[in-house]
Amino acid sequence: MGVEPVAESGSIAARIEALRAVLPAGTQLLAVSKGQPSALIREAVAAGQRSFGESRLQEALQKQQELADLQPLDWHFIGRLQANKARGVVRAFGTIHSVDSLDLARRLSRIAAEEGCRPRVLFQVKLRPDPSKTGFEPEALRQAWPELLQLAALDLVGLMVIAPLGLSTEALGELFGDCGALARELGLAELSMGMSGDWREAAAAGSTLVRIGSGLFGSRG
Ligand SMILES: *Cc1c(COP(=O)(O)O)cnc(C)c1O
Repeated sequence: MGVEPVAESGSIAARIEALRAVLPAGTQLLAVSKGQPSALIREAVAAGQRSFGESRLQEALQKQQELADLQPLDWHFIGRLQANKARGVVRAFGTIHSVDSLDLARRLSRIAAEEGCRPRVLFQVKLRPDPSKTGFEPEALRQAWPELLQLAALDLVGLMVIAPLGLSTEALGELFGDCGALARELGLAELSMGMSGDWREAAAAGSTLVRIGSGLFGSRG
């Protein structure tokens, strides 16, 4: 499945504008800046983009330092989160998309309470078999839900899903639709669905946050 460029050419600003023009009103753009230099983030900020997704703590901390002269940006952690990075992630990110176990949620809540903050949390879900991805299966999330609701230092806002490679447009629509149904069942408003290759299907299915990297910044170095 190839990455569909958002626009054939042009600047990051032009691509952001092109995306904004076609995304539904309820769908926000999360610019995935992992693997991209701070200079490109600056370009996106100049075009009005405030929300950025990173998947490695060390890399994100370095960029946050390099961009410290800007108005504070809205940083989202979207990568696999190891227990020993939890404190760093809680300190550096306002939103965490990749909470994939009850143990991790407990740890994040304890740390957030210690740090005096309350991160926005999305649970990564696995709705189709995919050996390369982690995430709660729906039944496991339902079972953990009563305890998750007790984690007062976490602001539970939504679900995040990564589609397995190679799904048809129709299968993507079903997958994203299933994710939306599970979020509604749990009373969660945010749906982090869609990347460069499948954001159209995700937006059509009600995504509130599309996570777009290469389609915006070009391929990662
Ligand atoms: C890298 C990444 C993205 C962005 O992927 P692109 O295909 O470059 O748009 C989105 N979500 C997650 C979880 C990622 O790791």
